[in-house]
Amino acid sequence: MPEVSSNPGAVRARVSRLLVLLVAALIPILLCVALARYEAERIARREATLASTFIVGQVVSIVETAQSAAQTFAPRAAEACEALSPDLTLKAATVPYVRTLNILYGGRIDCSSAIAQQAIPIDGLLNGYVPASDDEWLRIVDDTPVVRNRPSLLVGVAGEAGHAVVAVVDVQYLLDLLHGAAPLTEFRQAELRVGEGTVLREAMALVNVRGAPLLVDVQKRMAGATIDLKIYGQPERINEAWGGLLLRYLPWAAALSALLVWLVRRLQQSGQSRREQLLRGIRANEFHVEYQPIYGVATQRCEGVEALLRWVRPGTGATRPDEFIQAAEEEHVIVPLTQHLLKLIARDVATWDVARGFHVGVNFAPEHLSGEQLVKDVLGLRAALAPRGVTITLEITERTLVCNTEQARNSLATLRQEDVNVAIDDFGTGYCSLSYLEKFPFDILKIDRGFVLTIDPEGKRAAVLDSIIDIAHSLGAQLVAEGVETQVQRDYLCARGVTYIQGFFYAKPMPSEAFMRWYRAHGAHMSPDPRMTAGT
Ligand code: C2E
Ligand code: CA
Ligand code: CA
Repeated sequence: MPEVSSNPGAVRARVSRLLVLLVAALIPILLCVALARYEAERIARREATLASTFIVGQVVSIVETAQSAAQTFAPRAAEACEALSPDLTLKAATVPYVRTLNILYGGRIDCSSAIAQQAIPIDGLLNGYVPASDDEWLRIVDDTPVVRNRPSLLVGVAGEAGHAVVAVVDVQYLLDLLHGAAPLTEFRQAELRVGEGTVLREAMALVNVRGAPLLVDVQKRMAGATIDLKIYGQPERINEAWGGLLLRYLPWAAALSALLVWLVRRLQQSGQSRREQLLRGIRANEFHVEYQPIYGVATQRCEGVEALLRWVRPGTGATRPDEFIQAAEEEHVIVPLTQHLLKLIARDVATWDVARGFHVGVNFAPEHLSGEQLVKDVLGLRAALAPRGVTITLEITERTLVCNTEQARNSLATLRQEDVNVAIDDFGTGYCSLSYLEKFPFDILKIDRGFVLTIDPEGKRAAVLDSIIDIAHSLGAQLVAEGVETQVQRDYLCARGVTYIQGFFYAKPMPSEAFMRWYRAHGAHMSPDPRMTAGT
């Protein structure tokens, strides 16, 4: 009896089932955690992007305003300061953002809207920076000669004859912008560079941005310089948003995970329970074999039987063989089930008394056929049947494909040398009938009941059936016609040289003892089953 509950394969199967359950439970949770994190970061980035678009737009507008004021004086930059000064002062007073307008020349502030002509050294303003005279430039400086300890934005344009016009913008505008749009309450820090020089920070607070995610880094070229805005997020704030999202969605993910576990478990159980039911059936000895006589046309005797497995479960009754055989194949218990069948056959035949050369047809599933244990299993049965003079016919169906053709072919060749016959079952119903004939060595073709049914009661030709019979004859194979139920079918087949007839016309499958009784009464001279001929 096969023992599968404690073997390494079963343990492995249990572990893999548990792993699948664990994965099913974790997938929704992990997905939720990852998606919530992604969403929290996305929200933070979106807020930062909105703020940055606004800030950079405003900075551009301020710079353009200052630049245009400076440019007004570019053509007049070489004029005497007395003439220029009132206009500079007026302009500086009326243009938004601009605090002073200055003319630079020869390393000095040549003229200024604030302090007229005092020829202050330029260094006080530019702090060592030397703009190229034909350039536009932007720079943030820490002090100006007028305003100390307070950064200013210088917007410079080239003027006439080597002069430069510089508009000084109070950075308070820029700081207010940073404070309004990217406050420290929402972001770790916002850093604004406008051209060269000092970096402006929200509230000019020096905050450590290490470990804080950089949410946006926008760069814009203008006036020969780059405006660069970096906004760093607050990790705590992002985590808080993440936590909020988790709180909202984790219960759903947990529910989904529970549902998934339940579904997977059910799937596993349905597979497992079918498998276990079959194995339990074997252990509980719920299977038995029925034998259907096969009529030899030439001898008119019963020359063999087909062994057909039966499963009668207490409380449920008989299960159809094609159903449980298919389940056993799908659950990969067909091999232990067939091995059990072989034991049952050996036990039954040991009680029989039949003519020498009597053959028992046994159905083998493709999985068994492709496996390595086939030869051993069949030879084991052969040895058990030999004392009774009984031989084996191995029936291989072509309804389902054999996967390891090479192995199957070798096993069949070996078995044929050991006096085992090979029959191709259900011939013509599969999708590879003719290729099967090439692939596998065989002795007998079994014509499927479906073709026998095409025999016309009026005696008209059944074309496909006739071709199958012709193929078998030309290959030198013997033929068994299955599912013969009427005299007309029998006569039609006998007339065409079919070797054996199997069907209810002669006898239905019977349990071992009933078969022996039947054999003693009818085996030596088989006649139609009176129940079948009653109506014909
Ligand atoms: P199969 O191998 O083609 O078996 C012949 C089936 O035709 C049997 O059905 C048999 O009872 C039925 N049959 C025989 N003569 C007649 C007839 O005159 N009229 C009608 N209507 N039916 C007839 P069963 O026993 O229900 O088996 C069905 C299928 O289940 C088998 O088809 C075979 O594929 C599978 N099977 C049965 N026992 C085994 C087994 O031990 N091992 C394997 N692998 N498959 C088996
Ligand atoms: Ca069969
Ligand atoms: Ca068949």
